[in-house]
Amino acid sequence: MDLALVGIGKIARDQHVPSLDASPDWKLAATISRHGSVDGVEQFTSFEQFLDARQDIRVVSLCLPPVPRFDYAVQAIATGRHVMLEKPPGASVAECQKLLAMARAQGVALYATWHSREAAMVDAARDWLAGQKLRKLTVTWQEDVRRWHPGQDWIWEPGGLGVFDPGINALSIVTKLLPDALHLSAAELITPENRQCPIAAKLRFAHPHGADIRADFDWRKEGDQIWRIEAETDSGRMTLDAGGAQLSINGVPQQSDSAALSGEYPRLYARFAELVASGSCDVDLAPLRHVADAFMIGRREITAPFHE
Ligand code: NAP
Repeated sequence: MDLALVGIGKIARDQHVPSLDASPDWKLAATISRHGSVDGVEQFTSFEQFLDARQDIRVVSLCLPPVPRFDYAVQAIATGRHVMLEKPPGASVAECQKLLAMARAQGVALYATWHSREAAMVDAARDWLAGQKLRKLTVTWQEDVRRWHPGQDWIWEPGGLGVFDPGINALSIVTKLLPDALHLSAAELITPENRQCPIAAKLRFAHPHGADIRADFDWRKEGDQIWRIEAETDSGRMTLDAGGAQLSINGVPQQSDSAALSGEYPRLYARFAELVASGSCDVDLAPLRHVADAFMIGRREITAPFHE
């Protein structure tokens, strides 16, 4: 199927273009971006022009930041296109619900992707945890914002989420691992005095069976980067590390299923092909709800200004 990619920036170049090139399902037929393009692919700078000119392309994948992405999604769905959304699926919960209602009314596929859920060992971790009594789960997601988000001013602006931009990846895994519904019970948001969004956050969750669940997100980590989820249950300990790529159980490293399609984004695009074929939606807003709740009930602490 032909597909158009919108917003040719970091994630489009790093992941979407190579995954589409390697996919048996998709052909990258057009790009829409004010500054970016892909060699050999028809390029538009205006989304309206694209929608008019290429009515034969029925599928779009939106790689823009969350705030500008909503208007593009509305136009795409309104013109009957199937839509794939980068994470987070929107800048607010309500706008995602609106997109879902529109997509269902139009009978098009809408896929709110959570790439970290597709990391190699997440399913194995979920399977190991299933049926066990969880005592404790600790998320440590600490990285260097200067290394991963250079020049991305939008990420500090309202709707950009700050440290929750990577932190929501951890929450997307946690909400896949734990079948029991969690809710956020407390949060601390540490925000530079010259920025709108937090540079660090500490979260606590209420668990239906009383497990101790916490998350520590920090964008000030230099040196080794940490993307780790540790769990203690009545039958042992699990560490899901490297953003979900590595798993050890009771200290023993586990192997991934080599038969599985490898790579987070190839798996997202394979799933999107299924959704388009059936005209279905896959929109799980649980990770975004936790972030919204953190902004609602979190205690604010102002910290030193952040300069790149
Ligand atoms: P980015 O490079 O800063 O932006 C992507 C593109 O969006 C830009 O190149 C720009 O293209 C377009 N854009 C930016 N602001 C816009 C605006 N106000 N109006 C219209 N277009 C605008 O961002 P990114 O890192 O690729 O992230 C995009 C999304 O992917 C985010 O939601 C992010 O959370 C998610 N994501 C990022 C990563 C990562 O490693 N960076 C990983 C996974 C997911 P033009 O200027 O050419 O129009």
